[in-house]
Parts: sequence; structure tokens; C-alpha cells
Amino acid sequence: REYFIGVDLGGTKMLAALVAYDGSIIAREEIPTLAQQGEVAVLDRLGNLIEGILAAVPGSRSALRGIGVATAGTLDTANGVVTFATNLGWRDVAVAAVLSDRFACEVRLENDATAAAVGEWLAGAGEGAPDCIFVTISTGIGGGIISGGRLIAGVNHNAGELGHISIDGNGPRCLCGNVGCLELYASGTAIGRRGAEHVRRVAGGDGDAAGALTRLAGGDPDRVDARLVAAAAAEGDAEASGILREAGRALGIGLVSILHLLNPQVVILGGGASHIGEPLLGPMREIIEDRCLPSILSPVRFVTSALGSSAGAVGAALLMSRDGR
Ligand code: BGC
Ligand code: ZN
Repeated sequence: REYFIGVDLGGTKMLAALVAYDGSIIAREEIPTLAQQGEVAVLDRLGNLIEGILAAVPGSRSALRGIGVATAGTLDTANGVVTFATNLGWRDVAVAAVLSDRFACEVRLENDATAAAVGEWLAGAGEGAPDCIFVTISTGIGGGIISGGRLIAGVNHNAGELGHISIDGNGPRCLCGNVGCLELYASGTAIGRRGAEHVRRVAGGDGDAAGALTRLAGGDPDRVDARLVAAAAAEGDAEASGILREAGRALGIGLVSILHLLNPQVVILGGGASHIGEPLLGPMREIIEDRCLPSILSPVRFVTSALGSSAGAVGAALLMSRDGR
């Protein structure tokens, strides 16, 4: 038996999984990242997390063939360095070197969404479809592209940054440098921000009527996130429903371009905010059905992630396992 460790290193939590060559998860464990402790402490705790999993599964340490690490942001995959990650506050952190020293095995970095795309493609909702797009709607919006049965990595492994496709050439500036980026309108962060703005307007007496969202937030804009907006919409809050509808329409606009570019057969939607479901995805589909070229629209199936929060870790492990041969 051969085992691989897959890690999803996020801004708030890190997840490590012991994964077999077929993508099945043997064991998994999740702990808070505590990024504020700094990179040395975070990587030390990540090492301990992996150590714990290996200790719990007899024989796994000697059968460990490599570690794959999925993380958001810009990476130098050739050297295993996280060059710039806003969610962790990291610049030029040599993640692969630290882990390969400690575990005496190969370590491979990959973008979080790209890794999740590979996980879903090979062991999840993608069912091995040769042309498949994965979109994660989370803190940001990320993606991964499988085309003609291959992962499209790009010349330096940064392909698939679907969240930074512009849907408004005169829109606000994004942290990435572009303007009007999809993730400014449709990420979990964007949905939460819109909700917080509404609650602030209610508190300021600016004419917005208080509803379920304001009540659920206890009148505090800082307590609003995408989950709360979704909960308020489910209680019939018109403002919250409107926020989700607009985010869904933005997703649709972005996806029409992506579909036109890549002509996939499966679109997998993942990430925390994808669980909002119909109030977000209904308006997305309406835009797509209205605007997409019929020949491109007709073969597409929209599915939700099968691996959930494990997708990135599974994909990182699978990429590691496929790289080695
Ligand atoms: C980043 C991507 C990442 C996505 C989801 C975006 O803001 O640019 O690299 O995959 O967020 O985490
Ligand atoms: Zn951007």
C-alpha cells in the first residue's frame, strides 16, 4: 500500500488527510490555523497534525510516498514556496522545505482551488469527465480547469484564477490589481460585506427597513457573514434575498465567459457559500440559460462538490501521487 498526505492550509483552518492512491480518505484531522502566530509556529503545528495522523494509522509512516499541500495565493510550485498569501499574511515561505525535512519525503504545493478541482475530478463530483471546471465560492473565488483530460496548470501553475475575471471594466479595484473582479461581487466575503452594509444603513436610520438579517445580527454589522445573509433570506428577508440574487447573477455572468472559453461538460460548484444553494445558484443558472451559446450550454451539467471541505486535501495528495510517476 502507498499513502499520501494531503493538506489544505487555509487562513482559518488547516486540514490534513491520509489519502490512498485512488483518492479515498483513510483518516483526516482539522485544526485552527492561528495564522497570527506566524509561519514557524503554523508549520510546526501542521507537522504535528500530520505526525498525529501517521501515528494513528499503523504502517502509514513507512508507506508515506509524499505530501501535497493546497493553499490560496501565489505559489512558486517549482520550489515549493508560498510567495504571497493574503489570507495567511505570508510572503516567501518555504513550506515544502520545512515539511520535506521533517518527514523525509517529497512535498508538492498547489493552489487550493486547483487542488480541489483535481480532487473532485478524480475522486468526487467530476467522475473523471475529461472537460470539467471547478469553481469554489468561499472567502475568495477560485477555480481549476480540466480540459481534454488534463489539468490546465499554466506556465507557472497559476491558471484557473476564475475569481479575478473582470465582470465590470469600470468596477472597483481588487487586491489583485484588476478591477471589477468576480470575487468582489459573488464570494462569501462579498455577500457578507453587502449584508453588513445593509445592517449599517438600518442602524444609521438611512431608510432601510430592519428585517430578519438585522435581527439575526443583533443590529451589529460586524456579525454579518454570508451564512447569516443566507439564514435571513431563508426567513424571507427581502434585502438578504436580493443580495444573494445579485451575487448569483454575477456568478452567472462570470460563468458564461468561462463556458464560452472552455466548453466543459461538468461544472462543479464548491466552497462554503455554494451550500447556500438555490437562492444563489438559481439566479446564476437563469443568467447562464439566457446568455450562453446554445451549443455550449446544452452539454453542461452543474453539480455540487462531493468532497466538500476535503476536496483540496484529496486533490493535493492525488497531484503528489501522480507527479511521482
Ligand atoms: C485567490 C485564489 C484562491 C481563491 C479561493 C482567490 O482570491 O486568488 O488563489 O484559489 O481565492 O481561495
Ligand atoms: Zn481580482
